Amino acid sequence: MVLPQELIPLRPHHLVCLQYFIGKGYSARFTSKTTRVLTYLKQHPTLACIQIVQGADILCQSCPNLHTQCKTAQQHDQGYLQALHLTIRQQLSFQEAIERFQRYVNDTVFHTICSSCRWYDLCSSLRQKRMLGILDA
Ligand code: SF4
Repeated sequence: MVLPQELIPLRPHHLVCLQYFIGKGYSARFTSKTTRVLTYLKQHPTLACIQIVQGADILCQSCPNLHTQCKTAQQHDQGYLQALHLTIRQQLSFQEAIERFQRYVNDTVFHTICSSCRWYDLCSSLRQKRMLGILDA
């Protein structure tokens, strides 16, 4: 395992959000930050630079809703912490995150955890298109 200089704190459900990120989000600042984080992760796929955290993470810091309760986000975290077999403070690479996503997030898991999210229709549509081979994974 290659150890990183700096860790990127990510809450559990954001590992899944990043699989479906296409430049849309809560604000320009948020999408810009998410794009930069995702670009870095894609450039360093085997670097164990992700650290799983509880609560607000590096993406939340640029979210206009940072200081709201984010109850659904907490529920998504609980769901994906279990579904992806993660623990808080665990370090992993983006490649490992993708492998866990592909291995554990079937349609039932995705629907059960994500259906309460405001972005569900968008992510669900991307998921279906990828499964049909219309979009690259
Ligand atoms: S539906 Fe919401 S929580 Fe689920 S992957 Fe998409 S943005 Fe993330």
